[in-house]
Amino acid sequence: MKRRHFLGLLGAAGVTLGSGATAKAASLGDVKGLPNAGGVLFDASRCIGCRKCEAACNQVNDLPKPAKAFDDLTVLDATRRTDGKTYTIVNKYVPDAGKPPVFRKIQCNHCMEPACASACFVAAFKKSETGAVVYDPDVCVGCRYCMVACPFNIPAYEYDKAFTPRVMKCTMCQPRLLEGKLPGCVEACPKEALVFGKRRELLNLAWDRIGGNPGRYVEHVYGEREMGGTSWLTIAPKPSFAAIGMDENLGTTSAPELTSGALAAVPAVAGIWPVLLTGLYAISKRKEKIAESEKQAAVAAAIAKASADAEAKLAEELAKAEVAGKRRIEVEVKKALEAAAKAGEEGEDA
Ligand code: SF4
Ligand code: SF4
Ligand code: SF4
Repeated sequence: MKRRHFLGLLGAAGVTLGSGATAKAASLGDVKGLPNAGGVLFDASRCIGCRKCEAACNQVNDLPKPAKAFDDLTVLDATRRTDGKTYTIVNKYVPDAGKPPVFRKIQCNHCMEPACASACFVAAFKKSETGAVVYDPDVCVGCRYCMVACPFNIPAYEYDKAFTPRVMKCTMCQPRLLEGKLPGCVEACPKEALVFGKRRELLNLAWDRIGGNPGRYVEHVYGEREMGGTSWLTIAPKPSFAAIGMDENLGTTSAPELTSGALAAVPAVAGIWPVLLTGLYAISKRKEKIAESEKQAAVAAAIAKASADAEAKLAEELAKAEVAGKRRIEVEVKKALEAAAKAGEEGEDA
C-alpha cells in the first residue's frame, strides 16, 4: 500500500467501525462534526483522466460492464454523470484553450450533514463514522426525494428494475473500509490523485499542497465548508472550480440547518408530507437555477394539464348534455306523436 494513498489509518486513529457505529443522519439527530471521520482528497492537478478509478469502482462494487471499455478514453469527449450502473466518472475540462485539459473525478461527496439523509423520511441514508454516507435499500420507499435534495446531483435510480429498484451512489467502499481496506478507486489511481485518510489530516495535506505550490492551485479546499462540509475534498489547479464544472455558489449552510424549521416539526414516524415537502423545497433552493426552471416548467405543465383536463371535462359534459338533450327531444317528440296518434284514434271513434 502506498503511504500517500492512505493517511492516518482509520482503525489506528480511533474511528469506531462496525454496524453499530453508524451515526444517525443530521436530519434526525445531532451529528455535527464527526471529527474523526474518514474521507478522500482528490487533487485534480494530478489526475490524468486514465479512468482506472472508474474500472476499479466497477470491479469492487460488482457493477455491470459499461458500453465502452474503461481503456477507451474517447468517452472523455462528452460530459457524463453518475447513473444507476456507475458510481463514479471522470470528466475532461479545458479551462484555458491551448493548455492541457484538467480532469475531475465525480462521485458522492459524502457530506458531513447530508441533504439526501435530510430529505429521506424513512432514514435510508446515514452518515457513518467511517465518513461514508451509506444507503439501506431495505427501508427505501423509492420516493426519490434524495435525488432532488442532493446539491451535487449524485443519487441515481434503477429505473430499469421493476421490482427492486434502488438508489445508486458511491458508498466510499464502506464494506472495504470496514475490512481495513482502501476504497477501490483510491487503491487503483496510478497518480495518487486520490488520498484516503482522516478528514482533518486530509485538510492539512490539501492546504500544504496549496501553500507549497504558489500559483498552482485555487486557494480553496472544495468541501471544507460547502454545504456544511463534505468528507470527499477537492483541490484544483487555477483558474477556478467553476472551470471544472463545480458549483461555487452552494454556500456553507448544511442541508439540515436549511430545513431545521420544517424537519423539527416532523415526528419520529413521519407522515406529514407537506412538512417534508417544505423542507425539501428549502434544500432545493440551493439548486436555484435548475430548481427555478424546473419549477416554472412544473407549474406550466400543471397549468397546461389542469386546463386540458378542464377542457376535456367540459367537452365530456357538453357531449353528455347534447346526448341528454337529444334524448329529451326524442322522448318529447315520441310523446307528442303518441298523443297525436291517440287523439286521431279518439277522433275516428267519435
Ligand atoms: S453528495 Fe449528495 S448523495 Fe452524497 S452525501 Fe451529499 S447529499 Fe447525499
Ligand atoms: S469510493 Fe468506492 S464506491 Fe466510491 S467511487 Fe471509489 S471505488 Fe467507487
Ligand atoms: S485513476 Fe486517478 S489519475 Fe486516473 S482518472 Fe482516476 S483519479 Fe484520475
